[in-house]
Formats: sequence, structure tokens, C-alpha cells
Amino acid sequence: MKYFTWNFDDGLEEDKETIKILKENGMGATFNLNSALFGKRQMIGRIRNLGIKEVPLSEYDANKASLLKYSIHYRIPKDEIADVYSGFEIASHTAEHVNMVKCSEEECIRQVKSDQDVLGKMFHTGIHGFAYPFGRCNSRSMAVLKQCGITYARTASFAKNFSLTDNLLELPVTSWHIRKDAVKKVREFIDSESDRDQFFLMFAHGYEFDFHTKESNFEKFKRICDMVAGRDDIVCCSTGEAIRAISNNAQ
Ligand SMILES: [Zn+2]
Repeated sequence: MKYFTWNFDDGLEEDKETIKILKENGMGATFNLNSALFGKRQMIGRIRNLGIKEVPLSEYDANKASLLKYSIHYRIPKDEIADVYSGFEIASHTAEHVNMVKCSEEECIRQVKSDQDVLGKMFHTGIHGFAYPFGRCNSRSMAVLKQCGITYARTASFAKNFSLTDNLLELPVTSWHIRKDAVKKVREFIDSESDRDQFFLMFAHGYEFDFHTKESNFEKFKRICDMVAGRDDIVCCSTGEAIRAISNNAQ
């Protein structure tokens, strides 16, 4: 079987529209949330399709000349979170979106555990998935996650093929929807033949859908959903579900 999973980071306002489209297509997905940053409002400065600088709303001046183009980067308020994400897998992204490689071990543990606590209470479930902020990880952060009961953790490096990696605490992405070859990669996945289960993880930040560039917009997202949804040979589910299914099938 083939498993296709979407991964969305940071708990952004665009996730509401994203979820509407996912539901229309009967697709699962995973949302990686920062529980200490709910409701935070910033602008994101980009170069082409890459968001590179977050600016607090209070410091943003639309009239100020800048090499960067800005889009909104608003996180969903706490009182809406449980409702918006109901029915989807929620994973941790640290409480405050910290770089795990730069934090002390103690701070890493605090960032993960407090996020698991808050999200677990909101969604009445254990939180066992994780995405590394900025994609940054090392052996120490993997050890911390293991200690916290995290079973898989997503990086931002790219997988070489459609096999599920052995080290689930260093889970690569298959593609990032802003990449020029994202649709081509999905086509390759659809056309690929293998005796083994295959895995495709596409990741995105909701604000990227508001860039309105050729490679970063809601239309492209819909097109990818359209390609993989409703097929007998592809299960479109959360990342945790895909990993569990592939692991069980392998036993
Ligand atoms: Zn993030």
C-alpha cells in the first residue's frame, strides 16, 4: 500500500481553509503545534517562496522599503484550537518553537513536555509525534524525545526514496509543497511500483499558501490533494497513522 501524509507546522490561520479542503477530499493530516504561541500575530518576510523573517505586527510598516515581500503569519488563538483541529492528528513542535540543537537538555525537555501536556489536555490524547522547529536536530535532541515518549520526529531534510526510514526520530520529508518539483514527485509516487509499502510526507506552512506565487498557493495544494485523494492504492492519513500501518505491515 501507499501512504500519503500532509504535515503542517505552527498552527496558522490558513489551516482553517486547508482543513476545509482536506475534509472535502477525505484526507487525514498532521498539524505540529506550539502551545505557548497560540494567537501570536506576526508578518513573515519572504524571498520568492521561502519565508525567512518573522516580524512582530507592532514593528511591521507596510510603507517601509524592503527587499522582502510580506504576508500575514497569524497563529490561531487558543480558544479556537481544539475546535479547528478536531479529528486531525496533533503533534508537538515544542512549546515556543525553539531550536533543539541550541537549547540545553533541560530546556529541550521542558519545551517538549509542556507542549505534550497542554496539547494532550486540549485534545484528550497522548502526543507522540513531533516536528523539529527549523528542522534542526542532533543525537541529544533525539534522546530527549525518546525520553518524552515521542515515537516519530520529522526533520526538514529530504528522503531519497519512498521507503519509510528506519530511524523514526529523524524522519525526513519527501517533499515541501513550495518546491518546483513537488507535483512531479507526487506523480512519481503515484506511478511507482514496489512490493513494499511506500510513504510520502509533504510538508507546508499555512502562510505559504498566501504567497500567491506560482509555486506557493492554495491552487497547487488543491491540485496535489486531487492527485492522491480517493484512490484505492493510496491511503491519505496522518503521519502517525501511516507510520503505524507501515510498521504493523512489516511485522
Ligand atoms: Zn515551525
